[in-house]
Amino acid sequence: MPLHVRVLGSSSSGNCTVVWDGTHALLVDCGFSPRYTFRNLRVLGLGPSNLTGVLITHTHGDHFNEGVLGFLVEWRVPICAPESVAADLIKRSPAARTAANEGLLRTFCDGSLEIAWFDVGCFEVPHDSPGGCYGYAIAHVEGQTRRTVSVATDVGFTGEHLRARFTDTDAIVFESNHDPMMLENSGRPEWLKQRIRKIGHLSNQQCAGFLADVFHHSTRPPAAVVLAHISQTCNTNALALECTHGELHRNGFSRTLVVESFRMTANKVVTVK
Ligand SMILES: [Zn+2]
Ligand SMILES: [Zn+2]
Repeated sequence: MPLHVRVLGSSSSGNCTVVWDGTHALLVDCGFSPRYTFRNLRVLGLGPSNLTGVLITHTHGDHFNEGVLGFLVEWRVPICAPESVAADLIKRSPAARTAANEGLLRTFCDGSLEIAWFDVGCFEVPHDSPGGCYGYAIAHVEGQTRRTVSVATDVGFTGEHLRARFTDTDAIVFESNHDPMMLENSGRPEWLKQRIRKIGHLSNQQCAGFLADVFHHSTRPPAAVVLAHISQTCNTNALALECTHGELHRNGFSRTLVVESFRMTANKVVTVK
């Protein structure tokens, strides 16, 4: 059964990605309204009975929506997160507290968690969020076949430990947040620019360089890369696409599909066969 990935939307206004095999679906974050989220899932033929869990990366407001969490608890869909993120989420979200009381808040043990057909690993990502920020390596296991998708949407900086979580994956969702010149000229206060550069988000060039490095360390390049959390004011989709596409092409990886995501429009479905 092929595995599909679609970013329903990604920016500082909201983030939600769905990974599904036709029957079982996992959400990574749920930062949009219930109306937007469930309408977009319905388009894919996915309803409450298909949802096996939501993975929360961190507790910034663009990554979880109280209304969506409320519906998920009502439908008995587990909310899944590493211990520190779950603890912070409980402080901020009454629905998460209800989930905890009803045994629906699941935390990772030694960095991994099994959710229906999915075998999920979590890894910490540098980003200035209380409770920390995490990326997810999602494996879909079907007999001898293992398909993998790695996701990290808010990344302060990259390093070798992060590279290891993205090598040899079938599809990657990764942040390409800003163009350095557009950020410099954005009129934002200096402290905010510094925060974004140092511990907030990755530039197009940092994203492209990281991905080329991941590809060089992989036995086979992934089928597709989705560029996420593209800034609306300090970037354009064309610049983000051109930067990663160009870098991968220069490094001899022109066969991988590079896909853009949008602020509040679902992107092209990526399928891993
Ligand atoms: Zn974010
Ligand atoms: Zn964030």
